[in-house]
Amino acid sequence: MRILIVEDEAPLREQLASYLKGDGFAVDCAADGEEGLYYGREYEYDVAVVDLGLPKIDGIEVISRLRAEEITFPVLVLTARGHWQDKVQGLEAGADDYLAKPFQMEELKARLNALIRRAAGYASPVLSQGELQLDTSKKEVRVDGRAVELTAYEYKVLEYLMLNPDRVVSKSELTDHLYEQDFDRDSNVIEVFVGRLRKKITPVNFIRTVRGQGYRFVTENG
Ligand code: CA
Repeated sequence: MRILIVEDEAPLREQLASYLKGDGFAVDCAADGEEGLYYGREYEYDVAVVDLGLPKIDGIEVISRLRAEEITFPVLVLTARGHWQDKVQGLEAGADDYLAKPFQMEELKARLNALIRRAAGYASPVLSQGELQLDTSKKEVRVDGRAVELTAYEYKVLEYLMLNPDRVVSKSELTDHLYEQDFDRDSNVIEVFVGRLRKKITPVNFIRTVRGQGYRFVTENG
């Protein structure tokens, strides 16, 4: 999952970035509202964390402008402790959730994961399709009740496909959402991950190849 962090306090920004990278997110950071707005317009994110007090353009304005341009990824705002008006303003501008500083990283992570899965239409943290289950909080995958050992990359591919069901996901979209900018963008690497993933979740066969386009995670409804 690709996340945008817009936070002007360098130590907090770096702490957030390293924590979320450690948890498997691909992270982009912006240090002010102008840069945040630029990233938000330019790239597709799965979720964003936006501090409200920012230099150049404040966080409320950043969110309002993105929403006015119909950019819809979920946004969690960071507010100063005790400033309840900020929460209201943030939500009214188009944010989806908030956290008051200081906060626990674990809580932030849980809220971000909830935002991502709700945006994809899942209410439960365990994504289920037939005999396949993916627990987004424990990062565990089961086929017919049996635990399947996946590498971090294989897990990320499966999670992204399950969160984007019944549509074609190209290899470059997978690369954009799952890997850091400096990742080797060779599409053969994705093919290898998908191939291994398919073998590991056999006999489940929900990942279809769409020739020349990418992959589609097929559900019963699709
Ligand atoms: Ca700030």
